[in-house]
Amino acid sequence: MALNEMLEPVELTNEELTKQRTVLIEKREKILQAMRAAESLQDPDELRVADEMDLSSVGYDQAFEYRLRDRDATLIKKIDKAVRRIDAGEYNFCEECDAIIGAARLIARPETDYCIQCKEKQEHHEKMYEKRRQRMTSFEA
Ligand SMILES: [Zn+2]
Repeated sequence: MALNEMLEPVELTNEELTKQRTVLIEKREKILQAMRAAESLQDPDELRVADEMDLSSVGYDQAFEYRLRDRDATLIKKIDKAVRRIDAGEYNFCEECDAIIGAARLIARPETDYCIQCKEKQEHHEKMYEKRRQRMTSFEA
């Protein structure tokens, strides 16, 4: 990373964009492979063991697995969107405020669509929401 990039985010060049597109497609393929591998791991033996366990813990395991799958599905959607943004010539710019996202940030997080300022704002809101939600839950308990 060039020193001046710490102060001023720079756009990815066309060449870097092409490379970034390949990185995204490869990442997408890896996630899909992992998802398929996870599915094929569910052999009959394992299911039989699950059958003997009490239902509540099986329920929990399944919920956990669904959450994982959910997260992978979300990531794939983000990757697809990033590829579309590259093709549309929008990839360098923040979806929220149109600022240059910056080459360093895009290379570190290829599926990102927000500049660091907007991302931090968003994460701050999410944390606030999460805290509020936790307080609500502890009230219920
Ligand atoms: Zn922004």
